[in-house]
Amino acid sequence: ASVWSQIPQGPPDAILGITEAFKKDSHPKKINLGVGAYRDDKGKPYVLPSVHQAEQKVFQQNLDKEYAGITGVPDFTKAAALLAYGPDSTPLKEGCIAITQSISGTGALRIGGAFLQRFYPGAKAIYIPTPSWANHKAVFSDSGLEVKQYKYYNKDTIGLDFDGMVGDIKNMPKGSIILLHACAHNPTGVDPTEDQWRAISDAVKEGEHYPFFDMAYQGFASGDTDKDAFAVRHFVKEGHFPCLAQSFAKNMGLYGERVGAFSIVTASPEEKARVDSQVKIIVRPLYSNPPVHGARIASTILNDPALNKQWLGEVEGMASRIIKMRALLKENLEKLGSKQKWNHITDQIGMFAYTGLTAEQMSKLAEEHSVYATKDGRISVAGITSDNVERLAESIYKITG
Ligand code: PMP
Repeated sequence: ASVWSQIPQGPPDAILGITEAFKKDSHPKKINLGVGAYRDDKGKPYVLPSVHQAEQKVFQQNLDKEYAGITGVPDFTKAAALLAYGPDSTPLKEGCIAITQSISGTGALRIGGAFLQRFYPGAKAIYIPTPSWANHKAVFSDSGLEVKQYKYYNKDTIGLDFDGMVGDIKNMPKGSIILLHACAHNPTGVDPTEDQWRAISDAVKEGEHYPFFDMAYQGFASGDTDKDAFAVRHFVKEGHFPCLAQSFAKNMGLYGERVGAFSIVTASPEEKARVDSQVKIIVRPLYSNPPVHGARIASTILNDPALNKQWLGEVEGMASRIIKMRALLKENLEKLGSKQKWNHITDQIGMFAYTGLTAEQMSKLAEEHSVYATKDGRISVAGITSDNVERLAESIYKITG
């Protein structure tokens, strides 16, 4: 026997379980709405043409495969910070933002968790929204932070519980760390309005809390990378010193290349240098330095004006397809005579829609209609196409009336 004879079997990943069930189903028109990756209108994975072109450019440069520095490819991180904070950002212009490349968004969150665990002067706890991306809790508790929650989603309105959220922020102990989804909240697709963001910023400031932004979908929500960065930029303008996890998985379709960045806004270039030195000390024993290929692709897209423009058009294209599928799903449900209201489908934004369907209804959807998604009623709008939207609406209608 090995030393592992007593190791307990862990539970399977909820999403992978759906994929398994979907694969086993022989229905010719089965629909998988569990996947968290963009699909084109034929239901196929999509490599952005700008990514193809950037990859060609990188290849033609005949670069070596030497290690990057601990914080990654500098041309990439510089451009990533500019994309997030914007050209008018004072701390960016003044050299006050520490940034490191990361293993996509998850890696950025993990570096942030480790940094806060080691250096945050207040309580080592982080408040995440209810609900939140399923991995947040695991990432932060594995970083050694206590994970607490604040109110976010109102299941009666299938929208934002704004009063509950602000109330919870006001009731947190002074100086609490709060995780905010910058845009396209996962799993609900419910975002605060710009006015609500202003009030959230005020409440966070009043409590002297520390904002940690997770921006996994910049550009993917509205189609406009500036608009989607509103919350982050507003907080910075208001004098907060947030930290930020960025992912290029969705907005560049670079999922498996693992391209991301983690940054911290500081009060001076001198403070930035000290923060930077400690970020390096955290990263070095974790993975030494990040992979270069994906960062070179992203850097080429962000730094080449023509490719950048093309990419912004392609991001807009993905966002519009998602927005169109939301409208078609709602339209088809209404055409069928559904007695329920489906406004939330088009009010919500980003890759996911929270349908408001119960776990029981989601099981029926799978068993009786071969439509697969998570039991919380979340569907990936990216899995909807012009071809399957009618059948999807019919299936939902038959279950909800
Ligand atoms: N945060 C949120 C809210 C997400 O939805 C995701 C992707 N599903 C991530 C972070 C991180 O993804 P990745 O590590 O692939 O960039």
